Amino acid sequence: MSLGVEPSTSTGLVDTFGRVHSDLRISLTDRCSLRCTYCMPEQGNVWLTRSSIMSADEIEHVARVAADLGVTSFRLTGGEPLLRVDLAEIVRRVAGLTSGGSPVEVTLTTNGIGLAARLDELVAAGLSRVNISIDTTRQDRFLSLTKRDRLPDVLEGIRAAADSPLRPLKLNAVAMRGVNDDELVDLVDLAVAHDAEMRFIEQMPLDAGHVWDRSTMLTRDEILAVLGERWSLTPVPGRGDAPAERFELDAGPHTVGVIASVTAPFCATCNRLRLTADGQLRNCLFATDELDVLRALRDESLTVADRDAAVETVLRGSVGAKKAGHAIGDPLFLQPVRGMNAIGG
Ligand code: SAM
Ligand code: SF4
Repeated sequence: MSLGVEPSTSTGLVDTFGRVHSDLRISLTDRCSLRCTYCMPEQGNVWLTRSSIMSADEIEHVARVAADLGVTSFRLTGGEPLLRVDLAEIVRRVAGLTSGGSPVEVTLTTNGIGLAARLDELVAAGLSRVNISIDTTRQDRFLSLTKRDRLPDVLEGIRAAADSPLRPLKLNAVAMRGVNDDELVDLVDLAVAHDAEMRFIEQMPLDAGHVWDRSTMLTRDEILAVLGERWSLTPVPGRGDAPAERFELDAGPHTVGVIASVTAPFCATCNRLRLTADGQLRNCLFATDELDVLRALRDESLTVADRDAAVETVLRGSVGAKKAGHAIGDPLFLQPVRGMNAIGG
């Protein structure tokens, strides 16, 4: 059966505000080895069914059509992507794609648990870079923040990444008042010791438990004020469409980044789309609507060409419906139903 949609690769994924979409974040699972308080509750999570999770084949299919439409960068995330036993296979398939004649970039966002044992196969599969999340260097805090006593495993993952050829290496922390606000300098020191860039993220209302409270969020300005007491911070020019504002520490070469999604949103330059583990396309972290890609991929009455056309239609439809910004500050702001673990950060 034909959907009557002619695929067109003549133009890229440009929205009504002229933003060109070249970055697709693919969530591989909503499950995780941790339970970070700002992301998901410790108990009572309702998981996606196994049968609804996209296979490596399906992920490659969407990625191939996206690459044909100008997507050059794919970030594998979750939940915790290292929980996928076929992660290296997914990396290999996506890294084998080209966009505009050049190889695409495949990166990974992970909590680092189990990374050390799998890094070699991921590098061999074509992984370009890795971001590792770490919010605290104190074991007791790690336990209360993530509900799991796994800090040594995360640190082992960071060491392995530092010893690997993957660069630049980035460490991510959500900065929270009264939780880790006294550790910002320690976290930067940890990153510098591993030849990595520490990046602090403002806490966003994306927790599945819906307990976000603006007053516990540490703002960009507060983060910079704390760091400024230890280092002179010089803005790094050429941010482009990157979410992080970067600063050189003293005269460099080390840098720190701040991702101020709440107090200094960067929606005007957003080039990102997100695909959930169950094959739903989202045009914003805060989107309340999703478009189904998976249904077409699993429709056995369609030819491969029809499926390509259907995926393209969904990609274009999602981009075409993208709003100017997320409006967290708006009194009518609605938190998405999915938590961050199910959206893909
Ligand atoms: N499990 C992996 C990890 O933690 O890196 C990948 C998925 S996680 C959802 C991706 C990123 O989202 C992490 O850096 C995490 O700190 C961040 N994140 C999760 N919930 C957040 C929230 N409510 N506000 C800001 N960042 C959040
Ligand atoms: Fe898991 Fe990452 Fe969410 Fe923490 S932030 S619970 S590591 S998915």
